[in-house]
Amino acid sequence: MGTMADESGVGVPADEAGEVRTRKLDPEAEARRRLALAQIRQYPDPVLRMQAREVQEFDGDLEKLVERLQHLLREATGLGLAATQIGVLRRVFVFLPDPEQEPLALVNPRFSATSEERESDTEGCLSLQGVVIPVERHTSLTLEGKSPTGEDVRLELDGLPARVAQHELDHLDGVLILDRTTPDARREALGLLRPHPAIVR
Ligand SMILES: [Zn+2]
Repeated sequence: MGTMADESGVGVPADEAGEVRTRKLDPEAEARRRLALAQIRQYPDPVLRMQAREVQEFDGDLEKLVERLQHLLREATGLGLAATQIGVLRRVFVFLPDPEQEPLALVNPRFSATSEERESDTEGCLSLQGVVIPVERHTSLTLEGKSPTGEDVRLELDGLPARVAQHELDHLDGVLILDRTTPDARREALGLLRPHPAIVR
């Protein structure tokens, strides 16, 4: 749970769960959100289960990929997005450590330290729309990697940003929140995700 200021400067309640942020949008922003979500791979797309490869070249292609991820993250009003989720198997994700700022991009990310302390909280995923399930995560960690231009990045994260970073790194290894929740929540989520066939008369 958090409170976000909308364009009018009035605080509106926003639900933050994992990489998903639910807030009331005006019709135009809602249309843009739907358009962005349509470009994000949805479960059970097999690409979501694949392992992303290390980035070797910090070139224009990488820059374009990061720009696309940042754009889609903003439009989808999410808190994080991994390259895997747009079908690109490269170790890159973007996330919002501070919702008021531009999304940060991490290339070849890894955790150099994680807290012993873990905490369970509900998480959603832009690739599992409608699913919000409990996931246990480290409460704080050190995230290291490269910027899109090849510089070293090192971030100390705790709370929600630490949770989102763990969610995004999981995507690069083909791991979904379904794999990290309780058996009951998983069963319920899979029921929700099962395709509902159209009835043909
Ligand atoms: Zn996700």
